[in-house]
Amino acid sequence: MRRFSAFALAREALRNHTGWGEQWASPEPRKHYDVIIVGAGGHGLATAYYLAKVHGITDVAVIEKGWLGGGNTGRNTTIIRSNYLYDESAALYNHALNLWEGLSQELNYNVMFSPRGVLMLAHNVHDVQVAKRHIHSNRLNGVDNEWLNAEEAKAFCPPLNISADARYPIVGGALQRRGGTARHDAVAWGYARAASALGVHIIQNCAVTGIRRGADGSVKGVETARGFIGSKKVGVVAAGSTSTVMEMAGVRMPLESFPLQALVSEPIKPCMPCVVMSNTVHAYVSQSDKGELVIGAGTDQYPSYSQAGSLHILNHTLDAITDMFPIFRRLKMLRSWGGIVDVTPDRSPILSKTPVKGLYVNCGWGTGGFKATPGSGHVFAHTIARDEPHPINAAFNLDRFVTGRFIDEAAAAAVAH
Ligand SMILES: Cc1cc2nc3c(=O)[nH]c(=O)nc-3n(C[C@H](O)[C@H](O)[C@H](O)COP(=O)(O)OP(=O)(O)OC[C@H]3O[C@@H](n4cnc5c(N)ncnc54)[C@H](O)[C@@H]3O)c2cc1C
Repeated sequence: MRRFSAFALAREALRNHTGWGEQWASPEPRKHYDVIIVGAGGHGLATAYYLAKVHGITDVAVIEKGWLGGGNTGRNTTIIRSNYLYDESAALYNHALNLWEGLSQELNYNVMFSPRGVLMLAHNVHDVQVAKRHIHSNRLNGVDNEWLNAEEAKAFCPPLNISADARYPIVGGALQRRGGTARHDAVAWGYARAASALGVHIIQNCAVTGIRRGADGSVKGVETARGFIGSKKVGVVAAGSTSTVMEMAGVRMPLESFPLQALVSEPIKPCMPCVVMSNTVHAYVSQSDKGELVIGAGTDQYPSYSQAGSLHILNHTLDAITDMFPIFRRLKMLRSWGGIVDVTPDRSPILSKTPVKGLYVNCGWGTGGFKATPGSGHVFAHTIARDEPHPINAAFNLDRFVTGRFIDEAAAAAVAH
């Protein structure tokens, strides 16, 4: 695999970039692997990369029913932050944020991580109390987060409308300066390229249709569109399809799948210096390097696998965006799309062993897993390699839905983007 460097870029520039070659291999599947990962989204690819890089397990296949990064990884609004309320969440998401900061160098691939700051707006007394509670809790956990009043928020993000007669008046916000965005496709491509260079097989257009278990109940491998592939360890990282894939092994998951949608505007000159989120009205906005406003909405109210959200949800989001940012009122929206997000009852993810020996699951990221991609892959690789959780993901187990030891980010924030 050719390394990217200033020298390599200059050399290729002189020959019309004809010498780069394939960024990852597309091998024929072998009959058996040490580990199989189901799902080539960011989390699955990162898991494979860290299995090879940190644990020396290179006999790994990542099996993907479509194209790599074509699930939620390639559909999200790329907000990255770590200012979650509970200690367990702060540790997990901050682990990810620490990895984001060096990820382009680690992968030798520009993932365009841009820590431009994430401002989470408060619209009423309840929001202010929730935000301040988060700020205090975050500080105790060593996570940066600070309170801005309305004028300070406006100074940080000039297009913001802070007039008192707005439909959703802005009374301040919590700012995480280390938060920001990254290029979603590049994250999938960077992990795929780096994992492939270490010997991982990435097998696209190959749906997993069954999970085979032996007489002792343990995992023996997966049935796929290209035949049976054996392995004693299978990690399911299938986001919105997790319940259906786990059902293949007879495991019922505490998950619901909902459409979540996003949209982009026509490109305009740089005017949004940061990411702005409003959990109360379910509207999120940042500006891409191409100049498009990237806008995220809330989930539909009903479970579905449609990958297309309802129109009234988009309407509501655009109502809120144009109220908070009147300067965007005359912008045209170019396109919208949906993904299927897998939501747990406490809105926290599951990174866990399962009752089936050799079967592991990484899911439940709901509306907010992109930000966790490097940290999730890192600790899940540990869980699979050592057959025990990493201290950071120990609390994110399946058992908590039996014992009741929830990590209740749902109650904490009403939403966990
Ligand atoms: C519109 C939208 C906006 C979002 N905004 C944000 C945000 O701003 N910040 C944030 O942190 N998160 C956000 N998220 C959530 C984030 O995108 C996800 O949590 C994260 O990308 C999940 O990554 P993943 O690798 O687990 O899943 P995916 O990228 O969905 O990968 C799972 C893969 O499994 C494959 N698969 C499924 N079934 C099978 C099968 N039977 N066989 C083989 N392969 C299979 C799928 O094809 C898919 O490629 C958003 C999501 C959406 C939809």
